[in-house]
Amino acid sequence: MAAEAEGFEHMGLDGRLLRAVAELGWAVPTAIQAQAIPLALEGRDVLARARTGSGKTGAYGLPLLQKLLGIKEASPAVPQAVRALVLVPSAELARQVGHTLRRLSAFCGRQLRVAELCGHSDLADQRPVLMEQPDIVVGTPGRVLAHVAGHSLALRPWLELLVLDEADLLLSFGFGDDIKALLCHLPKIYQALLVSATLNPELEALQELVLHNPVPVLPPEPRLPGRSQLQQFRLSCGTEEDKFLLLAALLKLRLLRGRALLFAASLGRALRLKLFLEQFGIAACALNPQLPARSRCHVIAQFNRGLYDVIVATDEEGPAEPPRQRPRKGGTARKGQPPPCPQDPEFGVSRGIDFHNVAAVVNFDVPGSVESYIHRVGRTARGDNPGTALTLALPEELERLRRIEDALAGENGQSMLQPYEFRMEEIETLRYRCRDAMRSVTKQAVREARLRELRQELLNSEKLKVYFEDNPRDLQALRHDRPLHPASVQPHLAHVPDYLVPPSLRGIAKPGPKKKKCPRGAGARRGGNKPRGSGNPLQSFRFAQRGTKRGTKRGAGGTP
Ligand code: AMP
Repeated sequence: MAAEAEGFEHMGLDGRLLRAVAELGWAVPTAIQAQAIPLALEGRDVLARARTGSGKTGAYGLPLLQKLLGIKEASPAVPQAVRALVLVPSAELARQVGHTLRRLSAFCGRQLRVAELCGHSDLADQRPVLMEQPDIVVGTPGRVLAHVAGHSLALRPWLELLVLDEADLLLSFGFGDDIKALLCHLPKIYQALLVSATLNPELEALQELVLHNPVPVLPPEPRLPGRSQLQQFRLSCGTEEDKFLLLAALLKLRLLRGRALLFAASLGRALRLKLFLEQFGIAACALNPQLPARSRCHVIAQFNRGLYDVIVATDEEGPAEPPRQRPRKGGTARKGQPPPCPQDPEFGVSRGIDFHNVAAVVNFDVPGSVESYIHRVGRTARGDNPGTALTLALPEELERLRRIEDALAGENGQSMLQPYEFRMEEIETLRYRCRDAMRSVTKQAVREARLRELRQELLNSEKLKVYFEDNPRDLQALRHDRPLHPASVQPHLAHVPDYLVPPSLRGIAKPGPKKKKCPRGAGARRGGNKPRGSGNPLQSFRFAQRGTKRGTKRGAGGTP
């Protein structure tokens, strides 16, 4: 805690790392950083409970980099080798962690090199990178093990540090056996740091295998930020159509300002939402778990670059289903159940991924569990940014939502989710348009949207490039396959004339065409609603909400 008050500069970190921390705008360590960094710098094994968004990458990344700098500087003749291994559950997280480590070591010249290993590229393509002996390897256990088994990566005798990030998810994604197998290839002595959002009994066996006399770091922080940073709302919707209507109103009338992450219960629903929003001229991208990691990363990068203000995703858990396990070899579908979706086991959207500058998370469908809720909503209010979450619930979803609220309730039993005061009757003017849009997004349209994405994937595939060079007729056939028309867009829906804007919302709503491309942070300028004295664009991106008095404008949390 003392370190938290004092800041990073009192932790004994190398000046180059401190410069990078300052460059990133990290003024003071977060709770997990304040506790874990000094212990890790002492060389202790650490068992840390930390939610994503708590600054956990810095908590293990800074001591890791400090240690490697120390080794290199103490004996310059030391051979170049992989000295730190960070295991993560998904390709996206590997990229994100790699990116953060590179930024933290930005002032260390070429002293420290980071390589990511995951299912993105072929094993063969990754070998040249490994031949250069990067100092740090970040990867999924499966891919790292494949390289070790193929002798393109040696972790003995030089590995000094092992990090297991999102350890609970590593296990629930079925990486337990790969991790155990990897441990046989590590030297006898190394420092280990294990970070997990939950420390459940299933994790104990892994902890025992990996950690030696660890110090537990359990900062007394809630698993989601407090009300001053994250405002959580719920809204009951009578019908499915009401959900769509509300979403259209929130986005089209810009009651929800800023960049939003929408969660739907399934891929089909996510694509339906995307097509529905397109009907209103709202450009959204969808994260399709059936596409390869490289394509998904591309979508996330596009969102993070600000090409889209809305991203629609599903998470690894469907409602009321157990967490998705890695498909077993030779596994068969249960009778009467849809075939398992060929989802990449490295995929986990609602966990760990840093979608940049997400002002609001909208749970279009109530998540299946409190864990899923936490991981979805944790995509906003990252670091010290504010954020808002809204969960829409049909009558049949209310019980599930109540269970989530009970689990998250404060010590006095008070729910963390406030009712979102919104009078549906005030957006009735938009209902006809909403119906029109919903009608256009037929099941066939959703199917075709899926096919279109797959076709595009085939056309862009590096792996198929050589095949198509040898078989140009197949390429022609694919290009000229019957045109797909996912949903015919009705241009008039994109424009909401003033007379359709509810009178009571006229002071707040900002209808009008939204630019398809908006550079990062441009929303703050566009919104024209910049709060007093704030340099942070996110602060203007809150749900605009009607006050209790007519025409009163106030922030979502009821702040006057
Ligand atoms: P993580 O939990 O590592 O995924 O970090 C979540 C976000 O918090 C990232 O965008 C980091 O840049 C940011 N962050 C990490 N540490 C700090 C800090 N000490 N102060 C402010 N933001 C931070």
